[in-house]
Amino acid sequence: MRVYNFSAGPAMMPQAVLEQAQAELLDWQGTGMSVAEVSHRSPEFKACAARTEQSLRDVMGIPADYRVLFIQGGAYGQFADVPLNLSKPGDTVDFVLTGQWGAKALKEAKRFGVETVVVADEKASNYTTTPAGDTITATPGAAYLHYTPNETIGGVEFGYVPETGDVPLVADLSSTILSRPIDVSKFGVIYAGTQKNMGPAGMAVVIVREDLLDRARPDSPSIWNYRLMADNDSMLNTPPTFSIYLLGQILDWVEDHGGLEGMATRNRKKAEALYGFLDASGFYSNPVAHDSRSWMNVPFLMANSDLDKKFVADAADAGLTNLAGHRSVGGMRASIYNAMPPAGVNALIDFMKEFERVHG
Ligand SMILES: *Cc1c(COP(=O)(O)O)cnc(C)c1O
Repeated sequence: MRVYNFSAGPAMMPQAVLEQAQAELLDWQGTGMSVAEVSHRSPEFKACAARTEQSLRDVMGIPADYRVLFIQGGAYGQFADVPLNLSKPGDTVDFVLTGQWGAKALKEAKRFGVETVVVADEKASNYTTTPAGDTITATPGAAYLHYTPNETIGGVEFGYVPETGDVPLVADLSSTILSRPIDVSKFGVIYAGTQKNMGPAGMAVVIVREDLLDRARPDSPSIWNYRLMADNDSMLNTPPTFSIYLLGQILDWVEDHGGLEGMATRNRKKAEALYGFLDASGFYSNPVAHDSRSWMNVPFLMANSDLDKKFVADAADAGLTNLAGHRSVGGMRASIYNAMPPAGVNALIDFMKEFERVHG
């Protein structure tokens, strides 16, 4: 039986994609091999990788002066890779903090000899808000400004893109990429670990504006050097071939479902249903400011937290899995990425109603 998997990542994938992968697992495109067994230098795989990149360009509307890179090491790798590629020792680097992932990115950047400046920090609200749009000001001359459009643990999402003028804007889009339309031209670098909306774990997709390709520190690892990776079509070494293949399938699925506009409609409806239920309830609650609520990750609390473990266990028995909140914050969290069908959210709401009726 397939469950509704509410994990924050690795996360649920569209069933149609898994079925397609299963159907061609033993013989991919008449090669007599699995795609995972095919040489990354073969014409078949090169075409597959090129197609995945083109699909991503089409789906996200990536302008021609941006390069798309597939880099190993996930999003956490990019916490180091961004300073290695965009800054020199002594440079000023700006951070906006709206939760734990941004804080981790800041901590990692500090290892690379840069002067970090926190230009906005939502600590006062206990990270339940995003800064007001006009309060983010980049430091003149900063190498870049980094922020986290969707904080996966706190469930806090920006409803706008900060204006940073000449300072390149860098975004960790791990948990919200492909969930709604985005104007890529506003960014210097977008990166995202793939295990939320883009398939299995194991790589990051990095979208980088061409004029930023040549700033890498001379001692940065070759496989993490944006210029070298761009010049080698992300195949300086063996890339995560199966992840690239599955991302291509997922992008087909996104296109079949109306592209990013279709995803936005689907995700907004799911989020409205769940937040609407939470707000009407006296038993469950969500602490995040209304204008900063994530469409992807919905944390919630119960009036009586002694029931948390029972809630999570009973939900799993009902086929609704991985609803425990992040280990650092407790409570519950429902991650409702692109692949979570509306029926999964409705099943969760029904379960929550019944749980409240019995235990409330
Ligand atoms: C999941 C996540 C990460 C970490 O991703 P890894 O691929 O495990 O390194 C970083 N940032 C955000 C916003 C995330 O959601």
